Amino acid sequence: MDYQKILNEIEEELKGELSKGKVADYIPALAEVDGDQFAMTITLENGEQFSVGKYKEEFSIQSISKVLAFSLAIDIYSKSLYKRVGVEPSGNAFNSLVQLEYEHGIPRNPFINAGAIVVVDALMSHFGGDYAALEKVMTFTREISGNPELKFDTVVATSEMEHASRNLSLAHLMKSFGNFENDVTDVVTTYFKQCAIVMTTEELSRAMLYLAFKGTDPISGKQFLNEAQAKRVNALMLTCGHYDASGEFAFHVGLPAKSGVGGGIVAVVPNVMSIAVWSPRLNKYGNSHVGTLALELFTTKTGLSIF
Ligand code: GLU
Repeated sequence: MDYQKILNEIEEELKGELSKGKVADYIPALAEVDGDQFAMTITLENGEQFSVGKYKEEFSIQSISKVLAFSLAIDIYSKSLYKRVGVEPSGNAFNSLVQLEYEHGIPRNPFINAGAIVVVDALMSHFGGDYAALEKVMTFTREISGNPELKFDTVVATSEMEHASRNLSLAHLMKSFGNFENDVTDVVTTYFKQCAIVMTTEELSRAMLYLAFKGTDPISGKQFLNEAQAKRVNALMLTCGHYDASGEFAFHVGLPAKSGVGGGIVAVVPNVMSIAVWSPRLNKYGNSHVGTLALELFTTKTGLSIF
């Protein structure tokens, strides 16, 4: 298959869509990003990459980092993690407080904000503090992305902390139900730093190969998750990766994927490739408008989907 030709076609066909949607502005530092940008990279089993657009441009991976932290947490806690966070789609906004109250402080899944904050709390308990937990997430991300220099953007993390009322509320609510072990502010600050990791589509696509290949990075041969764990992460990406638009995304694209409010989406074609796409303007669900369309076009043109 001529992947480069397909990516070039996608870029061309979506030019008229780049001005649609809205850059996330509830995190002021993200509102400054030029919205009309686009990049897409696919990485094959042998590491070969095909890209289009601004694939060397770094962007804030935001919620995509929840997949990384969750991968570490299931490896440590295994089934006991599911006492603190569920595995059902939320059908609600990513930062909803209402559902959390009804469900006694147990978040629906690890990819909504409350669930991801609990995962960070669990990592901090295990690794013995905020700095150690963040370092583990960074080390893991550096390893799988092939970029030992990978950083988080302190300006974005600080900007989010200055507008953190809702995420702090989610954490306090969970604490009131006894589903929280560490200091609320420390956990949420660490969560924001993790969300503020910056990557290019080249790096992100490379990083997710372990999920495309049953938990083992096919390039280094290193096993990060066992097959059963990788299956669970992929299943959660398919059912919960796009908040309350997860069903629609699965319907149109047909791949396990995770989005972030920085405009990135990462998707996995099991046993074939991983794909990263980035375009900062979001649709009404908080997922990249052009990114979603690009993945839909990709699976339509290539026939590569899990269905
Ligand atoms: N840091 C963001 C938040 O907590 C992540 C949300 C997202 O990327 O969807 O609001």
